[in-house]
Amino acid sequence: LEAKLEEVAAEASKERKLREHSEVFSKQLENELEALKMKQGGRAAGATLEHQQELSKMKSELEKKILFYEEELVRREASHVLEVKNVKKEVHDSESHQLALQKEIMILKDKLEKTKRERHSEMEEAVGTMKEKYERERSMLLEDNKKLTTENERLCSFVDKLTAQNRQLEDELQDLAAKKESVAHWEAQIAEIIQWYALNLLQQDPLWKVRRSQKLDMSARLELQSALDAEIRAKQLVQEELRKVKDANISFESKLKESEAKNRELLEEMEGLRKKMEEKYRTDSGLKLPDFQDSIFEYFNTSPLARDLTFRTSSISEQETQGPKSEVSPSTSVVTAEQQQEVREPLFYPKEMPAAPSPTIQSISLAVPKPKAHQLNIKSFTSPTQCSHCTSLMVGLVRQGYACDVCSFACHVSCKDSAPQVCPIPPEQAKRPLGVDVQRGIGTAYKGYVKVPKPTGVKKGWQRAYAVVCDCKLFLYDVPEGKSTQPGVVASQVLDLRDEDFCVSSVLASDVIHATRKDIPCIFRVTASLLGLPSKSCSLLILTENENEKRKWVGILEGLQSILHKNRLKNQVVHIPQEAYDSTLPLIKASLAAAIVDRDRIAIGSEEGLYVIEVTRDVIVRAADCKKVYQIELAPKEKIIILICGRNHHVHLYPWASLDGSEGNFDIKLAETKGCQLITTGTLKKSSATCLFVAVKRQVFCYEIHRTKPFHKKFSEIQAPGTVQWMAVFKDKLCVGYQSGFSLLTIQGDGQSINLVNPNDPSLMFLSQQSFDALCAVELNNEEYLLCFSHMGVYVDSQGRRSRMQELMWPATPVACSCNSSYVTVYSEYGVDVFDVNTMEWVQTIGLRRIRPLNMDGTLNLLNCEPPRLIYFKNKFAAGAVLSVPETSDNSKKQMLRTRSKRRFVFKVPEEERLQQRREMLRDPELRSKMISNPTNFNHVAHMGPGDGMQVLMDLPLSVLPAAQDEKPCPSTANLSRQQQQQRSKTYISWPSSSGSDVGGAMPSRSMSDPDQEFDKE
Ligand SMILES: [Zn+2]
Ligand SMILES: [Zn+2]
Repeated sequence: LEAKLEEVAAEASKERKLREHSEVFSKQLENELEALKMKQGGRAAGATLEHQQELSKMKSELEKKILFYEEELVRREASHVLEVKNVKKEVHDSESHQLALQKEIMILKDKLEKTKRERHSEMEEAVGTMKEKYERERSMLLEDNKKLTTENERLCSFVDKLTAQNRQLEDELQDLAAKKESVAHWEAQIAEIIQWYALNLLQQDPLWKVRRSQKLDMSARLELQSALDAEIRAKQLVQEELRKVKDANISFESKLKESEAKNRELLEEMEGLRKKMEEKYRTDSGLKLPDFQDSIFEYFNTSPLARDLTFRTSSISEQETQGPKSEVSPSTSVVTAEQQQEVREPLFYPKEMPAAPSPTIQSISLAVPKPKAHQLNIKSFTSPTQCSHCTSLMVGLVRQGYACDVCSFACHVSCKDSAPQVCPIPPEQAKRPLGVDVQRGIGTAYKGYVKVPKPTGVKKGWQRAYAVVCDCKLFLYDVPEGKSTQPGVVASQVLDLRDEDFCVSSVLASDVIHATRKDIPCIFRVTASLLGLPSKSCSLLILTENENEKRKWVGILEGLQSILHKNRLKNQVVHIPQEAYDSTLPLIKASLAAAIVDRDRIAIGSEEGLYVIEVTRDVIVRAADCKKVYQIELAPKEKIIILICGRNHHVHLYPWASLDGSEGNFDIKLAETKGCQLITTGTLKKSSATCLFVAVKRQVFCYEIHRTKPFHKKFSEIQAPGTVQWMAVFKDKLCVGYQSGFSLLTIQGDGQSINLVNPNDPSLMFLSQQSFDALCAVELNNEEYLLCFSHMGVYVDSQGRRSRMQELMWPATPVACSCNSSYVTVYSEYGVDVFDVNTMEWVQTIGLRRIRPLNMDGTLNLLNCEPPRLIYFKNKFAAGAVLSVPETSDNSKKQMLRTRSKRRFVFKVPEEERLQQRREMLRDPELRSKMISNPTNFNHVAHMGPGDGMQVLMDLPLSVLPAAQDEKPCPSTANLSRQQQQQRSKTYISWPSSSGSDVGGAMPSRSMSDPDQEFDKE
C-alpha cells in the first residue's frame, strides 16, 4: 500500500511539475508576445496587422492548449482520487487484520504466563522437600559421629591404661631380675667368705698382734732420731757463722778506731789549715769575701731562676779587644755570644780539679803556684749583667765593668781588686748563689722575668720585664717583644727599697679591674713615695708567673726591707719633690723655663712671655712681653733679668722692677747673641759684678752686667773646642762641655785653658772614639772634676787625667741633668736618680715619670703628667733660693682673673663659683664641716663680753660665714669645734684656698690680707 501511495505521490508531483513547466512556458510566450507587440507597434502600422493575425492565431492556439491541459488535469485528478480511495480501503483492511493478529498474540501470552507460574511452584515444592531430606540426614550423621568419637576416646584411655600396666610390669620384672643377680652375688660372696674364714681358721697365730705393735714403735723411734740429727747439724752451722761474724766485727771495730783517730788528726789539720787561710786572707790586701753563709737569703739559692738566667756567661764573649766601637754596636748579638760560650765551656771544665771533696782543700788549691790571672778589660754589656764577685748588677749604659777575655768572669770596676784573680774562676765560685751582704745591702737577692702593665696602662695589657732585686733597689728592664728575650741595659723602672714609703702588697680584684681573674693571685703591688707635698706615692703592679713565684717575690722584698730597716740602711733623701703651685694654672702647662726669684715668687717663661707667680698670694704678674722664653737667669745684685727668648734665641735684658708688674723702662736685646743656645752667670774674682756668658755655637760672649746704663758691657769673646752644650764658671774659668769633652777656658786671656779630657790619657781614649753629649761638670774639693756625659760620668784631675778608675753609671738614658757641688741629678724616662759626686753613691731614686728640669740647678721641674705639674725639688743640703711652697689641691676651681692693672692677674675662685660653693656648703652638712677650717686667730673674740657674744651668735647664720671681715665666727660652739677636731684628723681634706679669707684663718699669711681688695685699691 505504501509503495502505491508513493507511486501516486510521485506521479502527482510529476504532474505538478509539468503544470509549472507549462505555466512558465505560457509566461514566456506572453512575454514574447508582448515583445512582439511592442515591435509591431514600433515598426510599422503595416506590420501590426500581420502581427495581430498571428497574435490571434497564437491566442487561439494557446486557448486550445490551455483547454487540453485542463481536461487532462481533471482526468488525472479523478483517477488519482480513485486510486487514493482504493489505497485507503486496502489500508483499512490491513489494519483490521493486524488487530486480529494482536488479539491472538495476547491470548498466547496469557497462556505462557500460566504455564510458567505452574512450573515454578512445582519446582519450589520439589526443592523444599529435598532440603528437608538433607537436613534430616545431616543431623543423623552428626549424631553418629559423636557416638563414634566418644567410643574412640574410651578406647584410647583404655590403651593408655594398658601400656602403663605393661610398663609397671616391665619394671617389676627388671627389679626382680636385679634382685635375682644380687642374690646370686651375695651367695657367691658368702660362699667366698665362708671359704676364706675357713682358711683363716686354719692358719691362726697368737703372736701376730704383739709383733705388729713392736714394728710400729720402732719406725717412729727411727724417724725422731733422724729429725734430731738434722736439727743438731743446723745449729752447728749457725754457731759457726756467728763466730765468723763476731770475728769480723771485732776487726771492724779496731779498724773504726783507727780511722777515727785518723779522722781526728785530719780535722786538726783542717783546723790548722783554715786558720792559716784566714791569716792569709787577713794579710792579703783587702781581700774580703762577703760572708754569704750569714745571708738569710740562702734559701733563695735553690731558686731555679739562678740557672736559667745566664747573663753573666752570655756576656763574656764580647771582648774589649774587639775595639770600643763594637762595644756598643747593636750587631753584637747575644746568640753568637752564647754559641761561643758553648764552645768554650767544655774547654775549661775538664781542666778543673777532678775531685774537690771539701771547700778547704779547694781553697788550698788557690795557694798552689802558677795561678793564672784574669785578663780583664773594660767592657760594655748589652743586657743586665751581674758582678761575679759581689753579685750586684753592673748598672750602666756602657763600660759597666771588667770582663775576663778568657773565662766568664765579670766584675765591677770597684770589685776588681778584691775579687779572686784566679782564672778561670773555680766552679763553686762561678756558681755563686744570689745573696745579699746584709751589712751593706749589696748583692742580688732575687731576679726573674715578670710582667708589668704596658706604658699606656694596665687596661692595654701586660708586657714582659726582667726584674732584679739588687743593692736595695728593684730594677725593671723591658724585655722587647719577639724572639730575642734579652732585656736591654736601660732600666725602665727603679724603685728604692730604702724609701720610707716603700711597701709590697697583694692586690684585690677591685684594685686591678682590668686583670683576668686567674692573674689576680699572681699580682703584687710595689709602692714608693713620689711627692713629698702633697704626699703622693707611685705604685707599680707586677704580674708573676704563678702564685708561688709571687709569694717568693713578696717574701724577698719584705724580708729585705726589714733587714734594711734593722740595719738602718736608710734612703738618703736629697730632693724632696713638692708641688710648687696649683696645677690648674694654665701657665704651668706652657712653661719652658723657670727660676726662683725669692721665697714667694717663681718666674715662669712660656710661649707668651715671662710671668711671675706670687705663690702665697695667688697673684700672677706678666713681667715681660716677649715671645718664647727659653732660659731665665737672674742677676739680683744688678737688678737685671736675663732671658733667652724670641724666635731667634736672642738674649734680652729686662729691669728687675718688671717682676713686680711695673712697666719696664728698658728692654735690651744683645744683637750679636742671635741663635744662642745657652747662657750662664757667675762672678769673677776681679770684679764684684755679675758676668754673663752667652754661648752661640762654639762662640762664648762674656759680658759684665751693671746696675746702670748701658747695663752691660762685653769684655771678652772665647772660642770653645766644640759646640757648647753646657757651661759654668769654675774659679775664674769658664768650664764648657761639648761633644765628648769638657774644657776649662780662661776668660780674660790670663792663664791657660785646660782640656779636662787629656788626650794623653789612654784610659780616656774611648771618649774621642765615640760621641758622647756633655751633660754637666762638677768641681770637687780636691781639684777633681766630675764630667758627666750622656752615657757615664768620668772623674778627672786638674790636668784632665783620669782620677778614679770607677765611672759614674746611669741606670737609664739621661734626658737631662742638673748638678750642684755635692749631687748630680739625672733625669731619665722613668724618673730622677741622684748621685753623690764625692762617694759616687747612687743615693736617691724618685719615680716621677717624664719630668724635666726648668732651670739649670734643677730646683724647678715640669712633671709632664695630666695635668702638668710644677715640681719643686726642695734640697736639704744645697744653699740657694728656697721656696715657700703653698698647699695645692687637684680640684681647685681657680681661674685667672684680670685686675685693674693690666699686668696683674689674680688666680682665684671667681665670685659666682664661690657663691655656688657656698650654696653647696649650705646644702651638704658633711661638706660644710670639711670646708670650715679651724679658727686659729682668736683676736677678734678676745674683747667680746659674754652677753655680746651671745647676741652675735644669735645673729650669725652658723652655716654660712659671709665674706665680710667684720663677721666673727665663734669657736665656742661645741658642735662646731668638734667638727673641726674631726677635720684635723682627716688629712685628705683639701683646703679651698679661696675661702681662706672668709673663714679667717688656716693660713694667716694668706687670709690676713685679701689680695682682691688690695688690687681694688690700686
Ligand atoms: Zn778569667
Ligand atoms: Zn761587684
